[in-house]
Amino acid sequence: TTVRTAIIAGNWKMNLGPQQASRFVAEILPELGKIVQQHSHIMSILCPPAISLAAVHQVMQSVPTPGVELGAQNMYFEDKGAFTGEIAPGMVKELCSAVILGHSERRGYFHETDELVNKKVHAALHYDLLPIVCIGENTDQYESGETQAVIKAQVEQSLAGLNEEQAGKIVIAYEPIWAIGTGKAASATEAGHVIHLIRHIYAEIYGDTAAQAIRILYGGSVTSANIGEFIAHPDIDGGLIGGASIKSDFVEIVRKSA
Ligand code: PEP
Repeated sequence: TTVRTAIIAGNWKMNLGPQQASRFVAEILPELGKIVQQHSHIMSILCPPAISLAAVHQVMQSVPTPGVELGAQNMYFEDKGAFTGEIAPGMVKELCSAVILGHSERRGYFHETDELVNKKVHAALHYDLLPIVCIGENTDQYESGETQAVIKAQVEQSLAGLNEEQAGKIVIAYEPIWAIGTGKAASATEAGHVIHLIRHIYAEIYGDTAAQAIRILYGGSVTSANIGEFIAHPDIDGGLIGGASIKSDFVEIVRKSA
């Protein structure tokens, strides 16, 4: 069986500007760094708002911590040009090694489609950024039993057209929308079941080797109180953490995953 390095990623969403972000990272980094250095099977990715990336990057350079990486929450797919308010993959790459793409809040509030997310995935891979591609069903789809169909379409369309090398290099975050920010996490059994299905769908497109190589995370109301169940599930390779990622609880989540 393949051993996949676990990932605990923190999606700070629209919280912590440069000053607060620097302070928070300086606070958590020593302990976070210690944990991931002692446990090489786990890594952590911090995803502050774009405007705080440089400040956080600077703190991370002053306290070198291999295993703690920096990610963006979004980016555009074009290289440069007249796209007011957007950030380009090459700009992200100057500071980051990863980027969250297609988060449900991007899809919901900013109308991102699978087609757009797919363009961003290709741009990220072109720039050697690790794409963390978010998928997941909403409440209505969950309640009407459409989860499998929704997941299948999102995987097929958001992750279309990868070559063999690229296919093994992505991260998927399964985030049921009904579990995001609600305090109602999916059970590990339920999340594990869908993640197993995602890997199966992925294997049908890109083969077993790629499907075994990719990391698939669970996201949705994860805290230090429930991370243990998710990490213990053989199909779940870590977590994408929202609310708890801007608190010291994030360090506890990483500790409990190690
Ligand atoms: C998220 O935003 O990706 C998320 C999982 O949020 P929360 O942990 O707050 O549910």
